[in-house]
Amino acid sequence: MGPDSLIRVHDATEHNLRHVDLAIPRDRVVAFTGVSGSGKSSLAFATIYAEAQRRYLESVAPYARRLIEQAGAPRVGGISGLPPAVALRQQYGAGSARSSVGTVSRVSNVLRMLYSRAGTYPPGAEPVDSDWFSPNTAVGACPTCHGLGRRYTVEEDRLVGDPALSIRGGAVAAWPGAWQGKNYRDILGELGIDIDAPFRTLPAERRHWLLTTEEQPVVTVHPVREAHRITRPYQGTYMSPRSWVLHTYATTKSASLRAKAASFLTEEPCPTCEGRRLNPFALSVTVAGVDIARATALPLTDLADLLRRARVHPDTAALSPERRQAAEALIGNLEEHIKTLTELGLGYLGTDRTTATLSGGEFQRLHLATQLGSGLFGVLYVLDEPSAGLHPADTELLLTALKRLRAAGNSVFVVEHNPRVIADADWIVDLGPGAGTHGGRVLYSGPGAGLEGVAESATARYLFGNTPSLRPASVRTPSSWLTLYDVTRHNLDRLTVRFPLGTLTAVTGVSGSGKSTLVGQVLAATIRDHLGTPESTEKDTDGSEDEAAALDDDRIVAIPKADGLDAVQRLVQVDQKPIGRTPRSNLATYTGLFDAVRKLFAAQPLAKERGYTASRFSFNLPDGRCPNCQGEGVVSVELLFLPTESAPCPVCHGARYNPETLQVLVDGKSVADVLALSVEESLDFLDQLPTAHRILRLLDDIGLGYLTLGQSATTLSGGEAQRIKLVSELHRARRGHTLYLLDEPTSGLHPADADLLLARLQELVDQGNTVVIVEHDLRVAAAADWLLDLGPGAGADGGRIVAQGTPAEVSSGGSGLAARFLAAHTS
Ligand code: ADP
Ligand code: ADP
Ligand code: ZN
Ligand code: ZN
Repeated sequence: MGPDSLIRVHDATEHNLRHVDLAIPRDRVVAFTGVSGSGKSSLAFATIYAEAQRRYLESVAPYARRLIEQAGAPRVGGISGLPPAVALRQQYGAGSARSSVGTVSRVSNVLRMLYSRAGTYPPGAEPVDSDWFSPNTAVGACPTCHGLGRRYTVEEDRLVGDPALSIRGGAVAAWPGAWQGKNYRDILGELGIDIDAPFRTLPAERRHWLLTTEEQPVVTVHPVREAHRITRPYQGTYMSPRSWVLHTYATTKSASLRAKAASFLTEEPCPTCEGRRLNPFALSVTVAGVDIARATALPLTDLADLLRRARVHPDTAALSPERRQAAEALIGNLEEHIKTLTELGLGYLGTDRTTATLSGGEFQRLHLATQLGSGLFGVLYVLDEPSAGLHPADTELLLTALKRLRAAGNSVFVVEHNPRVIADADWIVDLGPGAGTHGGRVLYSGPGAGLEGVAESATARYLFGNTPSLRPASVRTPSSWLTLYDVTRHNLDRLTVRFPLGTLTAVTGVSGSGKSTLVGQVLAATIRDHLGTPESTEKDTDGSEDEAAALDDDRIVAIPKADGLDAVQRLVQVDQKPIGRTPRSNLATYTGLFDAVRKLFAAQPLAKERGYTASRFSFNLPDGRCPNCQGEGVVSVELLFLPTESAPCPVCHGARYNPETLQVLVDGKSVADVLALSVEESLDFLDQLPTAHRILRLLDDIGLGYLTLGQSATTLSGGEAQRIKLVSELHRARRGHTLYLLDEPTSGLHPADADLLLARLQELVDQGNTVVIVEHDLRVAAAADWLLDLGPGAGADGGRIVAQGTPAEVSSGGSGLAARFLAAHTS
């Protein structure tokens, strides 16, 4: 290997990395391994990828140099031999409501060309451009619903809150607040409408006009002089409440405004297109007898069948030779795309599925498939646990995809925990030995086999045989059974399922077989309905709801008939969604331990003397926080055309507080110093606070001792977020039988960390509770008391119970994929 074929990293010190020096071969699949918090992401993403990204930005936008410097280059002495890099990260709910499987993979584009050039048109009609087949273009959208597929109507009555009030007194409920609302009111005044009379006393046609008109009259407004403000006449444009509601709902980026607008709307499928979003002409064009809206709704594997039929369909045979040739080429192209997506275990997705409803792993694999089709070479791909959420059978296909990227002349770096992926890599970079300050060293860098001799490595122990068995001494006997009858949702069709209570149950099956639908949606909704608890048990720490989530109509679940629900007294559902989307939320605030810390600071003599209460020590409130960054510790740096970067606040240097607040000390530490402590370090420091101490002990026991108390929620991985949520549930010791539902709890965890988590779950069951996990790691599944294997395939090929019973029964029963893969773990 020549010097050019190596990427050399010199003196990397980002986060916990301890002066790392390293040479890694290019054009290989390289796995970065180590326990959670050992520094894998700090090396692969925050150092190597970040440096490649910085160089790229400098080359395309030299003017941005100063801004880039402000945003901070990675802390590394130097990197040589670095190719351009593409990062494929997992992001939960990262997609927008407008992007779909089809738009990301480009299947939608090609499909539209197929319908445009080689579709069967009604007799006498001329072929039209492919824009006609997209609901997102002006020509393509259904003229009634503008491509939304639904019709929104505003009911006049609802626009008025209290008709006994005057317009000035607030009769119109549907107007925006603040200045804009006053503006509309004043315009009506100028138009000669009595804004001081009770609304209901206005003439009916006047009420109707002002509430619903589509006209936008412009008048000169002479505002009333207010105490401290000089107000000049201005030109004001009127918008009726009805127009405001429709316009705001369609265009606003603010989730709260959108929610306000939605409260005045009724929604139904569009009567013209019946929800298909396209204009009637486009819907009259077919391929193999199927219109494009139906084709788009098909799972990709079924779309492939349709295309195969189209090749030999009489309609296709009837096309002109030229158009037949176009059909051949476009179908071939689509089949390529679909094949790649299917190989990555995504064949069960429909083209029109919005990316906002995909899991982090599905989202990442969708982008990986797109890269495979892009034909780029000489690129470094950096991936974040690509096997997350994959059943062992699907993992084999992923490995093939990674090798295809390599064969095309690319370097592939994966941060991974899955032994199968690690064993298959050409090269391993193992970090550790522990997490946080106990990690950050490269324990091994070389071909896989050489890792075996590295005594310090936790990865070596799991990779080379000496895996501890997680199986309990004996399988537990259920205390009772919970049965759901005739469950029908997504691909589940009248399925009857029994769950043993008082045990640990693992639900397995390939991606798309129906596990999350069954456990995360139907089982959860049934229990919630029975207990009468509200929709979400989750707290939303920043108070904002994702716009995409607000658009998701998929949250209403039909409750099936059920037996045995009475035994369950509480439900705790823990998933991998981020615990907050702003840097204001962190480990300490989320778990509630920060409340105790703030009280401790408020009790110090200096704080009392100055009259500081606990709220002074919150960086979310104006009194104590740094006024420049408003307590975020970082400020964002806008780079024209480029993603926004964030930089430490130049006033408080990341401390988040103003200097006066930082003068109050506990044992020599300010509140900012305490937030900078790791969980492990604060165990001693906070041992005077029993509640906080209990939470910290639980966090440490579950393998999160390396996290710092103030680490912002936005930098936590899905696996970390899930364990933090679990801890914040666990520390409130409650009585009563609790049903815990966990979605892929070990995804993103090193086997050593998975063991710690599983031990906690076993304890919960020993205390008399029930735990149901959706699980892909069959080493973990084998430790359950009961298995429920769904399948056999994904989408319409799944949704059935392939096997159920104790792990021993399932593995000897012999049918189903789980049985095959389980045999290795139960013998
Ligand atoms: P891994 O990828 O191996 O799980 P990371 O590289 O994410 O580990 O973390 C290594 C250490 O760096 C941990 O102690 C973690 O808390 C810390 N760390 C990670 N991200 C950040 C960040 N954005 N700011 C500060 N510390 C961080
Ligand atoms: P698993 O959890 O086993 O990966 P899921 O329960 O997520 O499987 O999916 C089962 C089936 O339901 C798949 O065909 C999937 O495409 C479909 N599905 C899941 N979520 C949605 C959704 N929000 N909208 C439409 N179909 C969905
Ligand atoms: Zn329509
Ligand atoms: Zn600041």
